Amino acid sequence: MGRKFLVGGNWKMNASKALVDTLVGSLNTASWNPDLIEVVIAPPAPYLDLVRSKVKKEVAVSAQNIYFEKKGAFTGEISSEFLKDLGITWTIIGHSERREIFKESDEVTAKKVAYALAEGLNVIACVGEKLEEREANQTTAVVFRQLKAIADVLKPEDWDRVVIAYEPVWAIGTGKVASPQQAQDVHAEIRSWLTANVSESVAHATRILYGGSVGAKNSGDLQSQEDIDGFLIGGASLTASSSSRRSCRL
Ligand code: PEP
Repeated sequence: MGRKFLVGGNWKMNASKALVDTLVGSLNTASWNPDLIEVVIAPPAPYLDLVRSKVKKEVAVSAQNIYFEKKGAFTGEISSEFLKDLGITWTIIGHSERREIFKESDEVTAKKVAYALAEGLNVIACVGEKLEEREANQTTAVVFRQLKAIADVLKPEDWDRVVIAYEPVWAIGTGKVASPQQAQDVHAEIRSWLTANVSESVAHATRILYGGSVGAKNSGDLQSQEDIDGFLIGGASLTASSSSRRSCRL
């Protein structure tokens, strides 16, 4: 069976009750074929419950991060228990903003991925290189290092609930999108890496999303690439216009 296209919306630290009404209202009136497209939205933690209660069931709701402990003295952190209690079935882990601003290492990221999966959540695990790394021809070295940290802690069956998001850091929130060929090249490298280091079947089945300034203007060309199985969309997911729905091909 082919890989189902996944469109993820990462709201980052942007929300209000009014914005929830607008964005959820827009999604609730949009239609798409759920056999072909899966939609996941990731509002900030304080709005997860509200979004889950308002958005239609075809839309899955995701956290943007979790911690790797169940409960206790971890002020400010988000437990997988909270998510399960609220009907939240996904979490993003290892977004470049977590890695860069909050200094989350490959090891911490991997620990969170393993923990989230053990708790029954689905995971969007992010990888991607910085501009200076790309310019130094280090793109695959960086992406493979990040992937290896994650793959090392996963059991074969865990991969059913993992989606990889390739998000070149230089393309996130910059308006500077990777060309379809640049994105396809890295996605193909990731798939080959999975074949060589995990298994042929995991490489074939695992969805690899592209993220980085995706919008209505560039989504079509990106989407037509063989190894691009969806998008993780930041800025454009905050616009409830028909053009943003087009950017998700809804
Ligand atoms: C993101 O936050 O994951 C992202 C890809 O952001 P943007 O679409 O704004 O570049």
